[in-house]
Amino acid sequence: MDVPPPEQLVRCVEQIDRDRLARTLCELIELPSVNPFGKVPDDEEEGEKQVSAYLRDRLRKLGWTCDVDEYAPGRYNALARLPGTSAGRSLMFAGHMDTVETTGYPQALTGLVRDGKVYGRGACDMKAALACYLEVAEVLAAQSIRLSGDLLIAGVGDEEYRQEGAKALGASGLRADAVIIGEPTELTLCLATKGLAAYELRVEGLATHGSVPQHGSNAILSAARLLGMFDDHQRALDSRRHPLLGPATVNVGVIEGGTKPNIVPSECRIQFSRRLLPGESPAGARAELVASLEPGTWSIGDAWWTVEAYELPAGHWLAETLRVAAQLSHVPDCAPHGFPASSDAAYFGSPVALFGPGSLAQAHSLDEWVSIDDMATATAVYLRTAFLTSG
Ligand SMILES: [Zn+2]
Repeated sequence: MDVPPPEQLVRCVEQIDRDRLARTLCELIELPSVNPFGKVPDDEEEGEKQVSAYLRDRLRKLGWTCDVDEYAPGRYNALARLPGTSAGRSLMFAGHMDTVETTGYPQALTGLVRDGKVYGRGACDMKAALACYLEVAEVLAAQSIRLSGDLLIAGVGDEEYRQEGAKALGASGLRADAVIIGEPTELTLCLATKGLAAYELRVEGLATHGSVPQHGSNAILSAARLLGMFDDHQRALDSRRHPLLGPATVNVGVIEGGTKPNIVPSECRIQFSRRLLPGESPAGARAELVASLEPGTWSIGDAWWTVEAYELPAGHWLAETLRVAAQLSHVPDCAPHGFPASSDAAYFGSPVALFGPGSLAQAHSLDEWVSIDDMATATAVYLRTAFLTSG
């Protein structure tokens, strides 16, 4: 097998260019790619069209093949490949191109560099990782390096809603020996991610005049009693901990009900989400919660929004390869962790680990940023992982 000599890897890491990393990220931030949440995008501010074209153009210039696939109307994946020279293991760097909305975020689409950080919507979630993948491609191209296995970069659509981009890639039959997703893990190695199931709880009551509440049944007060029982349910969940992800959690996110202060409300609707652990199903989580609540005039519908949980099979070589790459790159914490948010991981059909710059504390916030140092470290880890994977 045609293994690049170790000096090549050293030179590649030395050539990581922080200014170029920051510039690339600013350019990506300036290309809006807000997730339209199930709608067909009505202008170029939404969807992944501009970012996928940017990735294609940059990577083709660096000698990669790259195709952009419109997997649904106005929604895109970009898939690039640097073919290997022989039969080494293949590695895919995957990252979602979509972001959450920009409403209320001043200068969301102006990539701003200040005090060693890059600011803007998508800075950490997760255009920083896309910039790091491009930097990997830049330094490999600068030295005309081909690894023995294929290297792939996938820009993926719709992670923030229904993961349709990752599902389309998985359904295409494309497989890699390993996938790294550069979600903002604060440079920790995450070998599992939680899933999500969102439900609606409807509580029925009986409307009557607010002065004689005893003649009615107050749906809001019934809902409040039920929500009190959610605490007991959470305590039961707390007793079952996944070794990397900890316990499953419940979040009550929306409550609606009633019309006037002088009317006993006949209906209350609550939307809540349950974070799923690997092996849990939305139906099973629903059944467990239903069994823990006092019977009454309420119902919980099937989950209307779901994301599968994922965990890398125990003992998979990717975990050790990534750990070695992180250690060689002076990452302070090289222990395995779990990613508390949901991700595309379950849908690629290939073994996945998550590792990336930035923090969930800034993701989806109105002040999103990522440190350029962390982007440089992540790029070094990605490069080392590519060399180690390829063999
Ligand atoms: Zn993300």
